[in-house]
Amino acid sequence: MKDTKHCKQCGTCCRNGGPALNREDIDLVRQGYIHHDQLVTIRQGELGYNPAIAQLEPVPVELLKIRGQGSGWTCLFFAEKGNACTIYAHRPATCRVLHCWQPEALLATIYQNTLRRTDLINPNDPILAEIERHEQACPGRVFTELLAQADGPEDLARLTELVRDDLAIRADVAQKTGISLEMEFFLFGRPLFKQLAGSGVECVAENGEIRLQRENSPRPPAGEGGSKDMSGTQNYRLPK
Ligand code: SF4
Repeated sequence: MKDTKHCKQCGTCCRNGGPALNREDIDLVRQGYIHHDQLVTIRQGELGYNPAIAQLEPVPVELLKIRGQGSGWTCLFFAEKGNACTIYAHRPATCRVLHCWQPEALLATIYQNTLRRTDLINPNDPILAEIERHEQACPGRVFTELLAQADGPEDLARLTELVRDDLAIRADVAQKTGISLEMEFFLFGRPLFKQLAGSGVECVAENGEIRLQRENSPRPPAGEGGSKDMSGTQNYRLPK
């Protein structure tokens, strides 16, 4: 509501998505007001929404955002009843400077002083090696660039390889450590196949393996090992 000079608690900002954390927020995690599994990592080079230009772009730095509710982006801590923030006294720094009628202060914080996964993980934790393995195998920047130009079979084959590696590492770590899906979103970000929406490329399952193809390509015939049903690959569901 840009005609106001104060917050009317309409909830619009919180419904548009939770904030990315910056270094001022580290104690909110350390003191338990925000938990690791309530965050989702936007890895460097993956697409993220930049409110300064009102569009998606490859993010230049890693971001830790408060997760959305269900499959949407409404901040996890937003309560529809009363349009209330459930951690208001301990809300992140970005929320404190967010004044929708005067957005300059918020826009100045974008990509500045951001918190990273390694800031929130004990340096001796072996999970860091798994994060590094994942970064080496399927870098966010490489995936985004390939997806933007994916044309011929070679691009699609490389993208398929990245999506398979991403799922394989997640499954391996989940099997070894028993982490929840919510924790996986913090450790490895959004699964690559979930980032295909709107790209014109889709994921299909064929003979028990996934493959990427242009959306207008013929689907693998059902009954001959082909299916668009992805549930057999990872049983993926979005965190509650
Ligand atoms: S933390 Fe609170 S104020 Fe910030 S976006 Fe979420 S619900 Fe809104």
